[in-house]
Amino acid sequence: MTTPWGLPDFDEHEAIHFVTNEKCGLRAIVAVHSTHLGPAAGGCRFWHYAKDEEALVDALRLSRGMSYKNAMAGLPLGGGKSVILANEERNKSPDLLHAFGKAVEELGGRYITAEDVGISVSDMIEVARSTRYVAGLPNSPGDVGGDPGPHTSLGVFLGIKAAVKWALGKDSLKGLHIALQGAGSVATGVALHACAEGANLSIADVDEAKAKKLVQRSGGKLVSPDEILTLEADVLSPCALGAILNEASIAKLNVPVVAGGANNQLATPEDGERLYERKILYAPDYVINAGGIINVCTEYLGDGDASVVRRRIEGIPVRLEQIWSEGAETGRDPASVADAMAQRLIGRA
Ligand code: NAD
Repeated sequence: MTTPWGLPDFDEHEAIHFVTNEKCGLRAIVAVHSTHLGPAAGGCRFWHYAKDEEALVDALRLSRGMSYKNAMAGLPLGGGKSVILANEERNKSPDLLHAFGKAVEELGGRYITAEDVGISVSDMIEVARSTRYVAGLPNSPGDVGGDPGPHTSLGVFLGIKAAVKWALGKDSLKGLHIALQGAGSVATGVALHACAEGANLSIADVDEAKAKKLVQRSGGKLVSPDEILTLEADVLSPCALGAILNEASIAKLNVPVVAGGANNQLATPEDGERLYERKILYAPDYVINAGGIINVCTEYLGDGDASVVRRRIEGIPVRLEQIWSEGAETGRDPASVADAMAQRLIGRA
């Protein structure tokens, strides 16, 4: 029998909660990686997994990523994540969301939830009927809160600009070709910022209708999901799902920069080294995609307005430059440098 302790991604999780409510069909996992810096904060993913084990591994990997992300963004938060195991029909009833909220409430504030893939702001409103430990709720104009997606997009866009400056010596994205994987919430914001600066975009999504819509809005070019990772471009921006950078895909990359918003882009830590060996500049995912959690944290703690959020997000390129600079000085790949920095911050060096 494989226990959670035996999994490669267990990584000293403080707690893993398995939640079941047969009446409404809820099966969820709440993974709390670290509360060293504060309550474990991280979104809730609603996804259909072929096997239950995949849901657990996803929760563990995402949760550790949140510890690292929150620490590297300088937030007073630990790291956690939840996944709701959707059935094949992906039924999501208010009762199911309330039951999930109740489970979060029972953790007494050790875990704070928000949106992730498959969960919308209106879903979070339902969840908030059962728990106080929730963020990403709608805001009135000028207030902090709401969908974290646009804030994540802004951070990713600023991170792409920093990467292009670092690797290619360019101050602007004007005329550069960006291959964008995904056409969802984060990708849309990245595409709109980038096209406003004059970038040329190639866009792929497994949901072709979504990709076409974004192509129309951004003036980009539609490419197939199979093509996007091998396209010749200045930047590959993965903004869909994780583990897309592995030995085989890295060997076929045709870009000098990988900088995007998806969580857990590297299939294994060795893939960070593989990118480095190929002289491809990598922006560690949990550093570049922290804009959403910065907004969520500011909303939850009530310690700033929209201008404070913007200033905090503008710290993302600075953090990336510190990582690339330390990597260049020590001959280590940026992903390892970032992991070591984050581990020091959460007291696990
Ligand atoms: P989303 O659900 O709005 O969009 C994801 C898109 O990816 C969907 O349109 C989906 O069809 C597409 N997709 C899935 N597999 C694909 C593939 N193989 N090729 C091409 N497209 C594919 O989700 P989102 O909120 O935009 O999040 C995107 C990524 O960014 C996720 O990894 C998420 O964890 C991460 N992230 C999101 C936020 C946020 O604030 N929303 C914050 C940090 C990180």
